Amino acid sequence: MNDILINKTNAFFQKAFHAVPEKIVLSPGRINIIGEHIDYNDGYVLPAAIDKIICFAFEKSNSNKSRIIAIDLDEEFEIDLDDAVQLNDRVWTNYIRGVIHQLKSNGFKFQGVNCVFSSNIPLGSGLSSSAALECGFLFGLNELFNLDIKPVDIGLLGQKAEHWVGINCGIMDQFSSVMGLENKVMKIDCRTLDFEYHDANFNDYSLILFDSNVKHSLFTSAYNKRREECEEGLAIIKKHFPETNSFRDCNVQQVLGLQNLMPEAVFKRCRFVVNEMSRVIQACEALDNGDIELLGQLMFETHEGLSKDYEVSCAELDLLVDLAKKEQYIIGSRLMGGGFGGCTINLVKKGHEEEMKSKFRALYFDAFGIELKSYDVKIGNGTSLYIQ
Ligand code: ADP
Ligand code: MG
Repeated sequence: MNDILINKTNAFFQKAFHAVPEKIVLSPGRINIIGEHIDYNDGYVLPAAIDKIICFAFEKSNSNKSRIIAIDLDEEFEIDLDDAVQLNDRVWTNYIRGVIHQLKSNGFKFQGVNCVFSSNIPLGSGLSSSAALECGFLFGLNELFNLDIKPVDIGLLGQKAEHWVGINCGIMDQFSSVMGLENKVMKIDCRTLDFEYHDANFNDYSLILFDSNVKHSLFTSAYNKRREECEEGLAIIKKHFPETNSFRDCNVQQVLGLQNLMPEAVFKRCRFVVNEMSRVIQACEALDNGDIELLGQLMFETHEGLSKDYEVSCAELDLLVDLAKKEQYIIGSRLMGGGFGGCTINLVKKGHEEEMKSKFRALYFDAFGIELKSYDVKIGNGTSLYIQ
């Protein structure tokens, strides 16, 4: 599947720039098994890079001008490194501008590029096409101009680029896009950025994503609002338990004890965060022990928390998870990513995948009149050079 994409991108580059690309970079999207909305709360997360990628072809332009072509959108733009970098109405260009801005403001010396890119990661579905875009572009510049940026720092610069675009995201998406390894999930400590790989062995179960095909406009404002609510909650916790530096240092009892001192919404956000943190630890142990049923149960609990306490679900995602609960052969399901649309991630007994897809497609269409898409995902490598 990716060979077709790579050949297409390579051919497009040659037609546009009348040259063979100097570097081809593959940058993946990601899934997250469990640990949602806690990367920015100093928790652990359990993501993995996937076999869906953005493919970039690059050459140096030998000037300060860059020309960048988004094949899938049939759009392009030019940017001159001598000019101040500014946000633009065409959102996709901002991820590239954000990367250039980060490199410039951190003092890196580089020049312009000619670049084309194309992707098989669905856009805006919670598989982090934006992180793949930032990290792949950064990786390419790092290779072309020998900037000597370490993989972890590519993730951190990519995160800053996304902040510049306007989403105050945590580190999970960029980190998993860069550091992923085939058939491994990563347990990342988002407080220290320490991480360990664990075998992604789901025994008799497949990972299937359902794409709700909706993205409610609440997403950006609500995401940033949740961060503020968590900060407010943490400040109250700190007042009563001064030894607490982050949610990592407190337990659910402490949060429950402060219920009357917190606005209702803030209390619910805090309760979700501490519960979710302990679920990730349990889930990782369950995966190591081959107890996939327990892992699935924890995923259902995460969805419940995201829907009722963190309030980032929507009717479409709730229906998909409710349907999943009714099927014996689905042992876990939850919304994945920021929420308000995008995908659910499901653990499905092998052999039942097709039955599940057609049943869910029909029921979802009946309920919302929307086409339900599904993706079979495999766990793949992080951002890398493609060697022909
Ligand atoms: P997600 O990261 O979950 O896919 P986001 O809304 O964070 O969703 O990022 C999607 C945005 O990233 C798109 O709206 C677009 O601006 C940019 N993007 C991602 N993939 C591509 C692509 N193949 N071509 C152009 N822009 C892309
Ligand atoms: Mg994104």
